[in-house]
Amino acid sequence: MNLSQLDPAALLENLHTGVVVHNKDTRIIYANPKALELLRLTSSQALGKDALDPEWRFVDTHSQLISVDSFPVNRVIKTKEPITNLEVGILDSSSEKVTWVLCNAYPEFDEQQNINQIVVSFVDITRQKKIIPFEDIVELANDVIVVTEASSILDDGPKIVYVNKAFTELTGYTKEEVLGKTPRILQGPDTSVETTDKIRLALSQQLPVKAKILNYSKSGDEYWLDMNIVPMKSEFDDVCYFAAVERDITEQMTRENKLKELSIRDPLTSLLNRRGYFEAAQALLSYSKRNEKPVTLAMIDIDHFKKINDNYGHHIGDKVLKIFAEIMSESFRDSDIVGRLGGEEFSILLADSNLFNAKGKLEEFRSTIEQNVIITDTDDSINFTISVGLADCKKGREYDLDVMLKQADRCLYQAKESGRNKVFVQ
Ligand code: GH3
Ligand code: MG
Ligand code: MG
Repeated sequence: MNLSQLDPAALLENLHTGVVVHNKDTRIIYANPKALELLRLTSSQALGKDALDPEWRFVDTHSQLISVDSFPVNRVIKTKEPITNLEVGILDSSSEKVTWVLCNAYPEFDEQQNINQIVVSFVDITRQKKIIPFEDIVELANDVIVVTEASSILDDGPKIVYVNKAFTELTGYTKEEVLGKTPRILQGPDTSVETTDKIRLALSQQLPVKAKILNYSKSGDEYWLDMNIVPMKSEFDDVCYFAAVERDITEQMTRENKLKELSIRDPLTSLLNRRGYFEAAQALLSYSKRNEKPVTLAMIDIDHFKKINDNYGHHIGDKVLKIFAEIMSESFRDSDIVGRLGGEEFSILLADSNLFNAKGKLEEFRSTIEQNVIITDTDDSINFTISVGLADCKKGREYDLDVMLKQADRCLYQAKESGRNKVFVQ
């Protein structure tokens, strides 16, 4: 067929593709009816409009406004290259609704190879974009989804721009209550600072991050989340949002914490067992070393405990151990680590205590135990004493748990050797 037989005007008027021709200063010199419909303009409004017109707003697939420099027509002018199949949302001041178009554009050159005009064509893909309703899927997902702006990570914290239904159900906050706020409102006294620091560091570098974190609902209830935060990039490669997909793992964490608690506690006295004591003591030693704080370790052994078992029976021996543990818990601070290392052998790591302070405290404790009388069911009065060995974290020991334990043990042996009911320091 001879194309000259075709009426180009009729073709363009009937085409279901919008066609706009810009001259080289971006002014519109032609727009077909479909283009006017998609751009929501009348012919007289369109003609003469340039790409700087504030009435026009284009957004990318992440709903980020496209800067004037990146408008299809300006990109063609800048690169002198065509654009193919770019998804663009068209907004105007008359409506919130976005019309999505698939945009193509190419330059036409004059004989000197200067751009003469730019032809932009676009087809309406708004319906196709809605075929998979991603927004509804996200809204109705079982997992919590929180989207924040990517800016302002380090100041007041990133602003929440979206939360789904699972979020409102889990936290008790309405959408209105959290939009514009920072996710930091969900953190509380027992949220690990190490975890929040790790998240902040990753996000400030625009990197994805995974973490388990303790958060708080509106009514103050604790819940655990396993979260996966990913940076979301715009068409132009800028990170504009962080999307956090979060799973409620409260039940699993409660179970794990219970099991962990069982594995580190002595069932008879409820004190830390050997394993729990070593773990907690190691942590306190590392902290104290970092902060150059003194710590002192005490080894305690009940004197002639065998006799109590022999005279009153094993169950009274158990009762004595329980009461002893209670007195011990009451006599020391929460920051001290108290544990039952085995049998009738106990240890305390005294936080922020030098040898002098520790000796004073242990002397006091020794005296409390000496004066304490336990009355049995059969009205027998039992009193007993303890021997104590102390070791600090100084020269030769340098916050080393094993070395400190050995040294305290040597002192304990000396306390026993020299008659028991004593606190011994080398
Ligand atoms: P010493 O002054 O030299 O420490 O004398 P002792 O009798 O306390 O020393 P020894 O270490 O020989 O005895 C500790 C006893 O503690 C032996 C063991 O039967 C008893 N024992 C260990 N664990 C338990 C327990 O859980 N319950 C009871 N009732 N007795 C225990
Ligand atoms: Mg003993
Ligand atoms: Mg013993």
